[in-house]
Amino acid sequence: MVESTRVLPALAPLVSRFETLDVCEATVFGLLPDLTLGYFNAGWLAFAAANGLPSIAERWGLGCSIADAIRGPVRDYYVEQYRSSYERGQAWEHRYECSSAERRREMILRTYPGREGLLVVTSAVIDVPHERAASSPADTYRDPATALLRQCGHCRRFHHSESRWDWVPAWVAAPPEGITHGLCDLCFEHYYPA
Ligand SMILES: [Zn+2]
Repeated sequence: MVESTRVLPALAPLVSRFETLDVCEATVFGLLPDLTLGYFNAGWLAFAAANGLPSIAERWGLGCSIADAIRGPVRDYYVEQYRSSYERGQAWEHRYECSSAERRREMILRTYPGREGLLVVTSAVIDVPHERAASSPADTYRDPATALLRQCGHCRRFHHSESRWDWVPAWVAAPPEGITHGLCDLCFEHYYPA
């Protein structure tokens, strides 16, 4: 039985239709038809804690809109896909990269629409050590005008120049001050085709 602190009553019927949500390794959250966050599974809370994100769970907890919890250029894309998956009653799948300093990770996100709302399930499909060449941190990555570093939200490489995005593991492990997030051209074209 799911604790009432992690599921809104309106979403409880959908959640209780799945018995394994709290024992699976996947991170799962639930959305009401208006895209309000209505459920988090144990895996999601563990993931948030392990990645230093407890503040995210507090800031965007039950009752908040998913549209406020997603940031950056991909927000409209996700919101539209969640809405359309619910309205059509059809699952949506999306594969993306979410690497750490040491490991290359690819994730797959899958939606399970029901009458009461939508479950969004994310699992790792690839989790292996990196093969990409590593660059060292250097000030040449900072934008001369703003002094900010620009990082791709998917592959997590850092912008170096118009044609170059580099893998800087030291900065992925310990993010420096002054980072702004966006998408590199490759990830944008690959993950969000027009
Ligand atoms: Zn990228």
